[in-house]
Amino acid sequence: MSGAIAQVEPLTSARALRGPFDYRLPDDLRAEVGVGSMLVVPFGRREVLGVVVGLSEHSEVAEEKLLAPLHAFDGCPPTLPIELVALAEWIADEYCSTFARALRLVLPPGASTARATRLGAPRRRRSVARPQHLPVGAAAAAPPPLTDDQRSALEELCALLCEPREAASEPPRRLLHGITGSGKTEVYLRAAACVLEQGRGAIVLVPEIALTPQIVGRFIARFGETVAVLHSRLTPAQRREEWRRLRSGQARVCVGPRSAVFAPIERLGLIVVDEEHDSSYKHEGDPRYDARDVAAWRAEQQHALLLLGSATPRPESRRALTRLHLPNRVDGRRLPPVRVLDMCDQVDGLHPETVQALADVRRARAKAIVLLNRRGWSNFLSCRSCGTVWGCPLCDVALVLHRAADLLACHHCGHRERIPARCRCGSTALARHGAGTERLQHELTAALGDGERFPIFRLDADTLLTGAGGPAGGAGAKVAGEDRRQRVSSDRVGELLRGFQEAPAGVLIGTQMVAKGHDFPDVRLGVVLDADATLRFPDFRAEERTFALIAQLAGRVGRGGEGHVLVQTIAPQARAIVHAAQHDSEGFLEGELQRREALNYPPFAHLIRIICSAVDAPRAHVAASAIRDHLGAASAPSAMGATVLGPATLFRLRGRERRMLLVKAEDRRAAVAAVGAAVQHVACARGHAGVSFSVDVDPQ
Ligand code: ADP
Ligand code: ZN
Ligand code: ZN
Repeated sequence: MSGAIAQVEPLTSARALRGPFDYRLPDDLRAEVGVGSMLVVPFGRREVLGVVVGLSEHSEVAEEKLLAPLHAFDGCPPTLPIELVALAEWIADEYCSTFARALRLVLPPGASTARATRLGAPRRRRSVARPQHLPVGAAAAAPPPLTDDQRSALEELCALLCEPREAASEPPRRLLHGITGSGKTEVYLRAAACVLEQGRGAIVLVPEIALTPQIVGRFIARFGETVAVLHSRLTPAQRREEWRRLRSGQARVCVGPRSAVFAPIERLGLIVVDEEHDSSYKHEGDPRYDARDVAAWRAEQQHALLLLGSATPRPESRRALTRLHLPNRVDGRRLPPVRVLDMCDQVDGLHPETVQALADVRRARAKAIVLLNRRGWSNFLSCRSCGTVWGCPLCDVALVLHRAADLLACHHCGHRERIPARCRCGSTALARHGAGTERLQHELTAALGDGERFPIFRLDADTLLTGAGGPAGGAGAKVAGEDRRQRVSSDRVGELLRGFQEAPAGVLIGTQMVAKGHDFPDVRLGVVLDADATLRFPDFRAEERTFALIAQLAGRVGRGGEGHVLVQTIAPQARAIVHAAQHDSEGFLEGELQRREALNYPPFAHLIRIICSAVDAPRAHVAASAIRDHLGAASAPSAMGATVLGPATLFRLRGRERRMLLVKAEDRRAAVAAVGAAVQHVACARGHAGVSFSVDVDPQ
């Protein structure tokens, strides 16, 4: 380590400030500071935490103007791996963000929020209790003998892992396309074992720890202390401790949700992305990174194996990666037959066949899972005499009725108000429209429930926050805000899932959460209500989501026994539904790729979404138009194969009017650079005060 000048990126959130800035290193720091060191530096009138991103002998800044850092960050250990600094730089570029914001992603937990002034005083290190991860139904630690399909997949993976970098013609990456119950996790475990033997480490990404405790349990059961788990339910001290164990090499396998892709493992050999189709891999705050792409970048840098696994892979992955196929369930059982029920003649509720099938399950003392992707009691409330629909005062959407909580709630901003007794026009005739999971639980409990002998459970974002999901529940409910994904309580989910698992019989109702990787042996019936709900979504991924939802739910059914699936829909001919009913993911993917190619959607082009928002609509519109003009003038979009659509109006959200531009481009790098420059130009220009800009590369 040498260099008298440290180039430091101060961790401020301002977009306009672009580092790095030079600081003069005093002799005592000079010996210990390298790229990745964290320093507390004077910055303006503040002291801020910064990361050293480069060292040099000379600075262009006049000697007398150079400041010295105040002191080194006293966290332990005080440095980031160099690779993560490079990763942050890449992310800032790739997702039109800033270096400082990207660096925050890779910092040790808590470092970016700690007050810089407090970091100076050395703190006593207290011993921290390791998090207790109760393996739910963890497999014995002894690995089972592999099936033939698993073995041949594994042979190929191990060959890739042993291949020296120089001999490899392309980065080692594979898609593990295995139907639900085909034993993908066992393949991940064996590949990880192979990597550990080589003295390297592994990262295993899962959609949500809360909903997939089983996979965590299996990794801990197999590898013990060398597994670190990072997720939002840990206390800050526990998270720091897990990070420290990884940084020091005490732990070499990290299991966690998308942020675990930043685990400070130095000799990486493997990155697994389980359920790679899951939308939770996309981060919704700035930088809007996609953990799957970050995983691919890290794997490539380290020459580590990238393994994406799913029963319903994304068309992007199917096209880009060589596939390893697990077409059979481990237990040799076939996937359950799926029947599509046409709901055209029926406005609402359950099809007679569904009613019959649920009654059969009750009579047989078996279990069923019912998926309805809509929380609450009713979709909206209206006045029968004047037609008023109760909407959110901050967003242009209808409020959803939650009966137990006695609230109308906005599912976008978290606004809530009491359910009114009468309309402003004086009428008390108020109509509730549509049914959500809360009402369904109520109705099924009335029709089928039988105390502990046949309980009706409910799993959705509301029940997780309130404990209202149990069969007896209902009291004291609160309504979830928009960031419910973060706040999902793993204790609550674990309790609920265990309740369903241990019940002698019963029904589990819920949103898409019930279709995630649960492994219940005795579910005989799966039902998808209003399968069109996801299909109606105005998004080019709507079909892919619908297909995945039905296929994933079917995957929960008939493990260890007979089973069947019913899908209620008003679009029985929809491609996603027809293919899902036949368990034909190959056919679906093929058609989907053809459609995407014809429409020039990903993976055949890249999308960048720019949203300008302001309190008044004209401001948002003017800013969006200015970006559009700048893009049109400066970068000659047609030259880089790009088209710019919009400005289009999005519904008002949290009191802000929104206008959107969509850039479709073949040359991703050029388009990202052009968009970045245009947004920067307009954001800094006069006349756009009060406008916020958000850029999303590869929006989901
Ligand atoms: P997937 O993730 O593909 O849906 P899982 O990995 O959850 O499937 O495996 C389903 C079940 O099969 C699990 O209970 C797992 O322990 C078991 N299993 C996996 N591989 C084998 C094997 N080779 N022999 C016996 N059981 C296995
Ligand atoms: Zn009225
Ligand atoms: Zn709202």
